[in-house]
Amino acid sequence: MPLPTYEVIALRYATRGARRADNFLGGDPHDGEMPMDYFFWVVRNEERLVLVDTGFCEDMAVKRHRTLLRLPADGLKLLDIDPGDVRTIIVTHLHNDHIGAFDRFPVAAFHLQDDEMAFATGRYMRHARLRRSYEPDHVAGMVRLVFDDRVTFHKGDGAIAPGISVHQVAGHSPGMQCVRIHTRRGWIVLASDASHYYEHLEQRRVFPVVVDVGGVLESYDRLLALADSPDHVVPGHDPLVMRRYPPVAPELEGIAVRLDADPLRER
Ligand SMILES: [Zn+2]
Repeated sequence: MPLPTYEVIALRYATRGARRADNFLGGDPHDGEMPMDYFFWVVRNEERLVLVDTGFCEDMAVKRHRTLLRLPADGLKLLDIDPGDVRTIIVTHLHNDHIGAFDRFPVAAFHLQDDEMAFATGRYMRHARLRRSYEPDHVAGMVRLVFDDRVTFHKGDGAIAPGISVHQVAGHSPGMQCVRIHTRRGWIVLASDASHYYEHLEQRRVFPVVVDVGGVLESYDRLLALADSPDHVVPGHDPLVMRRYPPVAPELEGIAVRLDADPLRER
């Protein structure tokens, strides 16, 4: 049987202003605006629906001063997806902007790396610097879901379905995982926060939220090795993603784009 292909959609749900110096370890000699977008991702075909991360809701927007553009559930509605129908969610890591809406999916099972759960529940959470992107309610919620048989753990590489796999790319967080997906244009890789912006991967620079700089740099090679070309790697927070890929429908411009389509040459 041939390997299935999937439609892959980046859904933009929040944004915030930032400056270049905020986004690179060691700062940046060129000061200027460098806003950050927040996405989660939909992977689907006739047989399967998989979410990659969940986004966050109003609580995180208020607490952390982000602009919530639409609740994750409302974004999914634009794609005719009911959160109650989502059965599989890949959690790239447990930072609040990736897992903050976990409780809006009543029947979903969550796929997580061993190292991420160990880190988020372990001794390093004593340190403000290392815990700042995590929320105790999200982490505790995930622990509860383990007791409800709704968490599948992976260690390193893991298969989710034919044509969909996860791969640990530690550095930003210890259990950071990217997602490799078979599409009509070949194998694409959702880097999530293994590369926040295109510039991180392309210029081998590092986002300041990091537990292992060497791990981040090594992961860039892994992302590229897993993808069919550099154009097949999709960063986790870059506003350029909305410009490089075609919208799902004309009215979804700036909201939802098709990552399984060839990127536009606008750079
Ligand atoms: Zn993030």
